[in-house]
Amino acid sequence: MTEQRRGIILIGAPGSGKGTQAKKMKAALGYAHISTGDLLRAAVAEDSELGRKAKGYMDEGQLVPDSLVIDLLKEALGGPEAQQGFILDGFPRTMAQADALDAEVTVDRVVALQVPFDLIEERITGRRMSKSGHVYHVKHNPPKVDGVCDATGEALYQRSDDTAPKVVARLAKFESETRAVIAHYQHKGVVVEVDGVGDPSEIFTRVMAVL
Ligand code: ADP
Repeated sequence: MTEQRRGIILIGAPGSGKGTQAKKMKAALGYAHISTGDLLRAAVAEDSELGRKAKGYMDEGQLVPDSLVIDLLKEALGGPEAQQGFILDGFPRTMAQADALDAEVTVDRVVALQVPFDLIEERITGRRMSKSGHVYHVKHNPPKVDGVCDATGEALYQRSDDTAPKVVARLAKFESETRAVIAHYQHKGVVVEVDGVGDPSEIFTRVMAVL
């Protein structure tokens, strides 16, 4: 059974700004922000059974097996926060995931963030995070004190997959798996392409204009 809540997918290469835009959309629209990457990193941090299974794939910049991610997604879609609407960030990344999603819910919009590849590596390798999910960039959005989160005082770290060789692997997966997902939703007529180059607030204005 499909249903009538609002469903938006943010799709784009790693480093295209999906997480940044999804947080802003959540604040503006009140929909749940479901990031499979964040959920998986939380599972790894907790050292849960799922986290132990997923960690090796993530560290290498490979995709976590569909069955694991699909279960995680279904659980998140069933949560109370997601009943008004949801913003998917990092899912679906394969056709099997797209098919599983389509069997559960209707997707109204797929926002495809467009960023040239030469910008992506610079964005990703300069990215630093705090455990609670605040994101910085060493050049474009540095914290006030080097290595310390402005919001929480936590130490900042670099994701294990945010190094140059892992970025190459992640981009290859995007091309070989996720391009087909974009084409799938293009056939349904729900994809809008948004220029993902520029200041996050400027990109956010473009995103809101196409929803
Ligand atoms: P990015 O979009 O910058 O690559 P994410 O935080 O979305 O980062 O994902 C980080 C990693 O988590 C991926 O490289 C992959 O290993 C895993 N992952 C996240 N979402 C999925 C998914 N839908 N299917 C398979 N693996 C996933």
